[in-house]
Amino acid sequence: MTRPRVLLAAAVAALALALLQLPASAATGPSAPAPVAPRAHDLDSVATAWRASAPATVVVGRSARGRAIVATRQGRADAPYVLLVLGQMHGSEPRGRAVVDQVRRLAPPAQVQVWTISTMNPDGAAAGSRTNARGVDLNRNFPRGWVYRWTRPWFYPGRAPASEPETRAVMAFLDRLRPGLVVSLHQAFNSIDVGSGKSVLWAARLAAALGLPQRSVPCGTGPCTGTLTQWFNAGHPGVAITVELPRTVTTSRALAYARGILRVGARLAG
Ligand SMILES: [Zn+2]
Repeated sequence: MTRPRVLLAAAVAALALALLQLPASAATGPSAPAPVAPRAHDLDSVATAWRASAPATVVVGRSARGRAIVATRQGRADAPYVLLVLGQMHGSEPRGRAVVDQVRRLAPPAQVQVWTISTMNPDGAAAGSRTNARGVDLNRNFPRGWVYRWTRPWFYPGRAPASEPETRAVMAFLDRLRPGLVVSLHQAFNSIDVGSGKSVLWAARLAAALGLPQRSVPCGTGPCTGTLTQWFNAGHPGVAITVELPRTVTTSRALAYARGILRVGARLAG
């Protein structure tokens, strides 16, 4: 190689090295901003703005059979604290819906907006089945800790994380709403699930207000996987707790549970 060619090769190599060491934004031009993960504060601001303009009734999505999944708000749209009560995830567990019916008849706590979803599984409710119309246990279908494993057909987690329209609808709504407390009603273990360490304080408050014992509720025969509470607690500042009602809940008992849930919700405001 002649001397000029050696110099040219060295210059090209130096230029290539310099380009490699430049930050990506400089190499691709100033109009290409580097991706930045959204900060919790920004997400809260977006949620506050969304809530302030949201109607009091929102269709959050549709079931596999096309039935609407509906959320309704009580209280002011600009109330700073948010409680969500989910009446039913498993269609064979109907009494949480009776508790939601009673919540909707009561005044929300001061500074708290109370959102209720009577059922996120309207197909299962119509059929009286635990699973949705596609045979999926929605409380195994959330994308946190999801595994393709089940011990009974009614625990089938779906073919993939968040494969079900009901799961995706509730995820999108919770991401948008960012409630401080989610109470997810089930039957019939007659207890407050102590769940993760994040929920200890609120589980104790719910146990006291509802008169139900705290315990770790079993998920079939193994550890819980792909549950709503796992997903929400891992990725949101709020707390989600499973409340297992007894098998029998009279109307007066449903009213007492509704009052208890709202008393606990009032604690969001301090
Ligand atoms: Zn259940």
